[in-house]
Amino acid sequence: MEIYKTRKEATERINELKRQGKTVGFVPTMGALHEGHLSLMRCSKRDNDITAVSIFVNPTQFNDPKDLEHYPRMLDKDIEKLEAEKVDILFAPDEKEMYPEPDTRQFDFGHLDKILEGKHRPGHFNGVAQVVSKLFQVIPATRAYFGKKDYQQYLIIRELVHRYMPELDIEIIPCPIIREKDGLAMSSRNLLLSPEERKSAALISQVLFRARELSSTNTMTIEELKNFVIDTINQNPHLKVEYFEIADANTLLPIENWYEADKKIGLIAAYCGQIRLIDNVEFN
Ligand code: AMP
Repeated sequence: MEIYKTRKEATERINELKRQGKTVGFVPTMGALHEGHLSLMRCSKRDNDITAVSIFVNPTQFNDPKDLEHYPRMLDKDIEKLEAEKVDILFAPDEKEMYPEPDTRQFDFGHLDKILEGKHRPGHFNGVAQVVSKLFQVIPATRAYFGKKDYQQYLIIRELVHRYMPELDIEIIPCPIIREKDGLAMSSRNLLLSPEERKSAALISQVLFRARELSSTNTMTIEELKNFVIDTINQNPHLKVEYFEIADANTLLPIENWYEADKKIGLIAAYCGQIRLIDNVEFN
């Protein structure tokens, strides 16, 4: 695997490969790699000649300094996993390389960055847009892969390219959520849970799956289903729901009746102890 620490070297290499007629798939990550990340790399390898991965814990998207401080970092272990997946290129810059001077750009995504995660993590999506717009310039890929685990982020990235980088010829590809055996959505933050918390965390996805079943029986209103999800999860002493919303999966605008949208999605953020977890489930 080729490893680049500077933007200049990485861009030169990608452009050289593209001049040779190669297609490039790009998977941006913050490291502490798990099967969720690896699944994106496998999608990219399926679709492209070359797969490039970035590992960069982006400080500008953390609205909580403690979260940034505790975020797991394990570059050597990650490199072993990338080698095993036969990833071609790793871009692993340090903070100075990505932000030689502070990034003061302000992005606007309409309602999309002001609801759900955007509302509860002020500035988060602006930081995501800052880093991803820089990364897309460093790695001018043919396709970029994002997990539906971070569903709102996927929609924001699509909008970022549409609104702010229309000249960039990059296809944004969403990939399914990869889960642990008990249903918990894989996340680097799961490493921070105590064994007891880890057990409780599985309830979040289990209740979402139950909600999906209940929704298909047409016996509950949206309000009733939302209350069921929030109350059931909050009964566990380790868990506290921050929000649960049922929304139109195309716009993420909340809906009040099932017939208001064709594609519907339930999105949740919940604290498990001190650790904030997110998950979602698409309804039929
Ligand atoms: P992160 O390192 O958390 O910034 O995630 C990097 C990419 O991996 C993002 O596109 C995430 O949506 C994706 N990802 C993280 N966890 C999962 C998962 N459990 N299943 C699928 N994709 C995931």
